[in-house]
Amino acid sequence: MTEAEYLYETVIKNDYCIGCGICAGMDNSPFKIIYNSYGNVVAEPISEATLKTSDVKVLEVCPFSDKSQNEDHLSKIYLPFNKNTDNHIGRYETCYAGYVKTGEYRKKGSSGGVIKWLATKLLQEKKIDYLIQLSQNDSRDVSQPLFIYKVYNEAEEVINGSKSSYYPVSLFEIVKYIKQHKGKFAITGVPCFIKALRLLSEHDIEIKKRLAFTLGIICGGMKSANQSKMIGWQLGVHPNNLIKIDFRRKYPNRPADQKIYQVWSNADRKERFKDVNKIYGTDYGAGFFKPKACDYCDDVVAELADISVGDAWLNQFTYDPKGTSLIIVRNPTLGEMLTQGLTNNDLELTRLSAEDAFKTQAGGFRHRRQGLSYRLQKRQNNNEWFPPKRVLPGDIEVDERRKYIYDLREKISEQSHLSFKKALDNDDLNIFYSEMKDVYDRYCSLNEVSSIRLFLRKLKRIVYYDVLRKY
Ligand SMILES: Cc1cc2nc3c(=O)[nH]c(=O)nc-3n(C[C@H](O)[C@H](O)[C@H](O)COP(=O)(O)OP(=O)(O)OC[C@H]3O[C@@H](n4cnc5c(N)ncnc54)[C@H](O)[C@@H]3O)c2cc1C
Ligand code: SF4
Ligand code: SF4
Repeated sequence: MTEAEYLYETVIKNDYCIGCGICAGMDNSPFKIIYNSYGNVVAEPISEATLKTSDVKVLEVCPFSDKSQNEDHLSKIYLPFNKNTDNHIGRYETCYAGYVKTGEYRKKGSSGGVIKWLATKLLQEKKIDYLIQLSQNDSRDVSQPLFIYKVYNEAEEVINGSKSSYYPVSLFEIVKYIKQHKGKFAITGVPCFIKALRLLSEHDIEIKKRLAFTLGIICGGMKSANQSKMIGWQLGVHPNNLIKIDFRRKYPNRPADQKIYQVWSNADRKERFKDVNKIYGTDYGAGFFKPKACDYCDDVVAELADISVGDAWLNQFTYDPKGTSLIIVRNPTLGEMLTQGLTNNDLELTRLSAEDAFKTQAGGFRHRRQGLSYRLQKRQNNNEWFPPKRVLPGDIEVDERRKYIYDLREKISEQSHLSFKKALDNDDLNIFYSEMKDVYDRYCSLNEVSSIRLFLRKLKRIVYYDVLRKY
């Protein structure tokens, strides 16, 4: 069997491909990258015949292959200087919660605006020649993806990059760009993309030399492109007219974890937005529209990135509607830039322990440690192929109630892809609602107690915020 055939039979056919595009970007690759009909980005063979004759080495560069190195191994190569190691957040120098005090970074940012501030400084201080970050696709052609990776070489343009994009993309084109252009690059990416770039760097010395900084986005799971269509549809934009979405519009006066979705149509200029909690199918923890690969991924915080940034979901920060970033520093140059930013009064930073950094992502870690161990055991019991993980099948104890929660989350992900496709094919969103009802009702009733607890916690934060505003 060729490496290409093996990758196809294991990762791709079993739906563990996250569409990073690294395999397709190898010279003479027999793979291409597509958006499938469920709105997921995946690798697909150009033809089955080419797989049999291909001599391209793809197994060591795929983040989900069973022949590629894991995060622990790669971190020793890429982050040898880090003093500290933690079971959850991996190697690190320092952790902070913070935000940018100057300019529009925080206002236009997802949380504290830290990534775009850092990227701007990297260009200004000529530590890089190019920044590659995700951006809204300005095309009004609805057949185009809503987000794409773009290359920036002007510092003042960096602010125009996207906020958090729960939308699948690929590194395929951008890796070609890096290969064709000499110079130093920084790139933003979710953990599996940073891992894919590190794996590729082990095989491509030019890529390794050119990638000066990797800016990791902490990730609780991707969403298919169809989720954006569903959100738009509920807000009055038919999927055939959706040209833009903002997943992270902030309330001026509510805690940062309460957000607004906004969508744009190519048919009119009407402003359409709504509270996330009032849009069906956006319950993030339930797993709607999540690619299967995300349930088999054990890196929450981009352990291989030079810096990782997420939301500082701790009560003392969440109450602030402007948003606060969790920052995990691994690269000394980036650490010094943050310290300088603090001295210059550009940044507000509070030191966090690794334990506090973990607590900001506790739910995500539970799903990707305890939940993952349970899911792997199920695959093993069924004699199915699965990607090797640092978490072992059945290694972590799970009570029956939580097993059922994890089962339902998987079911919700699978069903949402199928039912929304059916809704699209029949031009009827009600099909999606009615087909999801049973499984989502079961999930909600199981989660009722925790939902009440969550509601009370949110209420406490709103009251806390009101009190702070008054004094
Ligand atoms: C799919 C997804 C899941 C996430 N899950 C979590 C989570 O579980 N917990 C958590 O704390 N935080 C999560 N985040 C991260 C969080 O939403 C913010 O991105 C983070 O707080 C950075 O905010 P900022 O204000 O510092 O960044 P900003 O200064 O606003 O900059 C954002 C940068 O991220 C880039 N970017 C946005 N989306 C993507 C993407 N999909 N791929 C590559 N680059 C991108 C933009 O181009 C921009 O450069 C997630 C983000 C995404 C995209
Ligand atoms: S995850 Fe990336 S490297 Fe692996 S099969 Fe998919 S596109 Fe190819
Ligand atoms: S959850 Fe893991 S596999 Fe899914 S997008 Fe995030 S980093 Fe990639």
